[in-house]
Amino acid sequence: MKKITIAVDGYSSCGKSTMAKDLAQKVKYNYIDSGAMYRAVTLYALRNNLFESDYPNETVLKKQIDQIHIDFRHNETNGKSETYLNGENVEKEIRSMEVADKVSPIAAIGFVREALVKQQQEMGKNKGIVMDGRDIGTVVFPDAELKIFVTARPEIRAQRRLAELTAKGENHTFEEVLKNLTKRDFIDATRKDGPLRQAGDAVVINNSDLTIEEQNAIILKLFKEKTG
Ligand code: C5P
Repeated sequence: MKKITIAVDGYSSCGKSTMAKDLAQKVKYNYIDSGAMYRAVTLYALRNNLFESDYPNETVLKKQIDQIHIDFRHNETNGKSETYLNGENVEKEIRSMEVADKVSPIAAIGFVREALVKQQQEMGKNKGIVMDGRDIGTVVFPDAELKIFVTARPEIRAQRRLAELTAKGENHTFEEVLKNLTKRDFIDATRKDGPLRQAGDAVVINNSDLTIEEQNAIILKLFKEKTG
């Protein structure tokens, strides 16, 4: 069966990763969480005190961008792919609210996007990949055979995200989480480079009222249509 490229884009916390991960597992493709890469750069900037209030010092970050190495490694114990920053497993840390709060300004910087997009394109050069993010169908893989744009009502997304954070032992309010999502979506959609935007040829899925099983069935059908 011919291998294709699958781009999954959409708003924050609308279940893109779950969808992309489940599909990749089912069809035995590689899965790449591009958001984890922007989160890893953000963690690097936080650890190196590059933030001046909400914004990073771009001059210093630019000088250090080549020293930031991100890769994904398979964890044999939990069967998951985990994010490494300069050889250290940062999977848990990059999911914190502190990182979520600072990631969008980092992801709006042109030279950061340029560096990460290049790596993402390299990861997908042999196809057989599912990548989720904001600009995958528009910038990273504009020729992807299957593009999905996921959306859900903001309140539902905030509720899902809150449940995830609570399960990890982070205590936040619904309002705080909703504010973070709305703010990130605004910055992501209005930035100059690689803004969050639906590709003209993407299939839109609003999963507000879908179960994971219903969602997976829709995606699998789309995959089969594309691969014959
Ligand atoms: O997908 P996730 O919510 O983990 O992404 C975190 C942030 O990374 C997004 O809010 C966005 O600012 C940025 N991002 C991006 N382009 C991508 C993936 C993520 O700008 N392809």
